This record gives sequence, structure tokens and C-alpha cells, in this order.
Amino acid sequence: MTPGNPEKERLIKGLMAQGYLKTKKVISVFEKVPREEFVLENDRDIAYVDYPLSILSGQTISAPHMVAIMTELLETGPKDKVLEIGAGSGYQAAILSKLVRKVYSIEVDPELVSFAGSNLRRAKIKNVEVIRGDGSKGYEKAKPYDKIIVTCATPEIFDSWIKQLKTDGIILAPVGGGFHQELIKLRKSKKGIEKKNYGGCAFVPLRG
Ligand code: SAH
Repeated sequence: MTPGNPEKERLIKGLMAQGYLKTKKVISVFEKVPREEFVLENDRDIAYVDYPLSILSGQTISAPHMVAIMTELLETGPKDKVLEIGAGSGYQAAILSKLVRKVYSIEVDPELVSFAGSNLRRAKIKNVEVIRGDGSKGYEKAKPYDKIIVTCATPEIFDSWIKQLKTDGIILAPVGGGFHQELIKLRKSKKGIEKKNYGGCAFVPLRG
């Protein structure tokens, strides 16, 4: 599976056994993307544990099982243009980059804009653009998006995101305040907006 990296192999097998990793294509990108390039230098040897790790500015790289759940729920296709809110380490964007055409990732924190950018460059990923800005407004310049993935806790699914989403597009977001949110998948169709709850999760909050 992943010759030469038993920890990575163990993690991926565990995520499959627990039902977080389901589809062949998502499993294969978990194998391809080097998570160790997206954690702090000192944490490289624990890059394949299944919990969130601290990165810069008090933020975290999400736990692998959360990245697996969100990536599976996003129903990615090779022609998709995806907007991510919260680049952080760049790891979620790196995973998506191998499944879609283009990822735009907005990050509010300048230190993390450069952290994500350099991690992605080291991992030789070229179809992710990290943009500094407030993701609550989305990213007008590259709209419309097939999918929007929010990786910080948001009080609501903002109208700006829904407007920038294509018909038949999906928004995935942890909605709620404090330490607990619900993972909501929104689908926009000609008939209207449909929302489904995928259960509890815990993300760092969206900052203004
Ligand atoms: N997807 C990331 C994890 C993100 S952690 C990864 O794979 O590592 C949440 C990130 O959202 C943090 O980097 C935080 O700075 C960012 N963030 C918080 N509020 C934001 C906002 N309003 N706009 C854009 N990014 C924001």
C-alpha cells in the first residue's frame, strides 16, 4: 500500500476499517499526499496519528478521520472547481487537489497563508491557490464553485457562499459556536436548498 511508511499504512487501514475512508480514489490520495509536509517540523514523526495537531497561530491541522469524512462527503469530480475556507496547513487542500481540477483556499492569517503555500510547494502541488482574505465573504474572483468546503466553525452558512455556488453544487461546513458544531452538507438545486446533518464535530472558530 504505502511501502516504507508503516505508520501511514496503519492510519489508512484504520480509517478504512472505521468506515471513514470509503472510495478507492479517496484512499489513493491519502496514500499519495505526504502529511508530514503539512505539520510543524517537530511533529513530523507523529504526522500519521489520528488527531488534530497544532500548527502556527494557535490553529490546527484537522485529524485525518475528519479530512477523510469531509473529502468523501464532498462528492468530488475531476472537473470541479473548489473553494476552501481556512487553508491552515494546506493539507485538506492538498488532498482535494488530486481529486479536482482547481482549489482556491482562502486564509485570513498571513502567517498561515505562507505556511500553507510553502507546504504545498514542497509537496509539489500546483493546482491550489492560497489567497489571503476573509473567507466569510467567499471569493468572488473565481466564482462559481462546484463545491465549497469550510474548515473552521461558522455560525451559519453565509449567503455569499450560497451565491457563489453553482446549481447542483455542495457546501460542507461545521455550523455552530463554541467547542461543538454540526457538520452540515448543503445542496443547491433548481428546486432550492437542501441541508443534511452529518453529526458533531469540533473545529477552530471562523475569525473576522
Ligand atoms: N483546512 C486546514 C485546517 C484549517 S484550521 C488544514 O487542512 O490544515 C482553520 C483555519 O481557518 C485556520 O487556519 C484559520 O486561520 C482559518 N480561518 C479562520 N477564520 C477565517 C476566515 N474568516 N477566513 C479565512 N480563514 C479563516
